[in-house]
Amino acid sequence: MSNQQYVKTGICEKYQTLLEECERSLAIWNEHRAEFAQSRVAGKDAGDELLRLQVKYARAYTMLQNHSHHCSFCQLVARLEGRESESSSDDVFDSAGYR
Ligand SMILES: [Zn+2]
Repeated sequence: MSNQQYVKTGICEKYQTLLEECERSLAIWNEHRAEFAQSRVAGKDAGDELLRLQVKYARAYTMLQNHSHHCSFCQLVARLEGRESESSSDDVFDSAGYR
């Protein structure tokens, strides 16, 4: 089927933005966790900072998940990429609302 090629050329911009935000938050969080572990700073401030970064990452991740669940384009891409492997290619357009 040629549908797959069509979708691969178009990436959802909103998803891309959210994904970058999510990855950036995770990277910063990991960095701070590593610093925290190395320096063995057990202060409350360091702990609060870590928690804030974790929450920030969790929020970014949730937004990404929410978007991909409500964006029919993202759902279509996910199905075609096999992230929901139980779906057969025949019902892709039905379940994504493309009719
Ligand atoms: Zn999308």
